[in-house]
Amino acid sequence: MEITKVEGIIISESSYKETSKLLNIITREFGLISVLAKGTKSLKNKNRAFTSKLTYANFQIYYKKDKLSNLLCADLINPFINIKKDLIKISYSTYLTELASQVIKHSNNNDIFDILVKSLVKIEQNYDPTIIKNIVELKYLNYLGIRPILDSCCVCGSINILTVSTSKGGFICSNCHTNEAIISSKSIKLLRMLYYVDIEKISKINVSNDVKQEIDKFIGEYYDKYAGLYLKSRNFLKTIKNTYI
Ligand SMILES: [Zn+2]
Repeated sequence: MEITKVEGIIISESSYKETSKLLNIITREFGLISVLAKGTKSLKNKNRAFTSKLTYANFQIYYKKDKLSNLLCADLINPFINIKKDLIKISYSTYLTELASQVIKHSNNNDIFDILVKSLVKIEQNYDPTIIKNIVELKYLNYLGIRPILDSCCVCGSINILTVSTSKGGFICSNCHTNEAIISSKSIKLLRMLYYVDIEKISKINVSNDVKQEIDKFIGEYYDKYAGLYLKSRNFLKTIKNTYI
């Protein structure tokens, strides 16, 4: 057993015995870990403030590999005040942390954590959460090993793109088109841009609802077909999203 500092975000918290909490934390250093936060159900406990969902902090822990670690103390990195005030932002952020925790099981790569952090910072700064979610979803396809082809037609390599195809796995040209719905050229351009963009460098987002819907629909179908993930928060997001887009 050793004392270690880990940078992480709390994905979920639950009660543990009478007085304690059990935290599931996604970390840069160790992927997903479970941490026992002793005594944190007490109002007087100094660590109590660091034990709620979506807390982003440096956690000092007794780390036990593949076992329950113990929380010693924490330094807050970002309290995500705006996210925690807004049900829609909470829902998107919860979904993204849940998604990241699934993706990190497939590929233990620091970038997965970093992409999550950058996306939550953007949601905190009031950027459109649907677009931020779509960027993260597109980038995570790489780590799930199901990267779509968004540079040229995924069947013949032509660069005259007509639309996008879930079943064929990316952009397609008019020669390779069979029965896929045609999406707008704006959506095609933006889809590719979102796939490659560095989230940190986004300074404004101005996208019409039609384009947002086309992009979100493709990504949703692509995940359904290839990712094989079940995420509780995604269903909830679908219900609130209909009122938001
Ligand atoms: Zn083609």
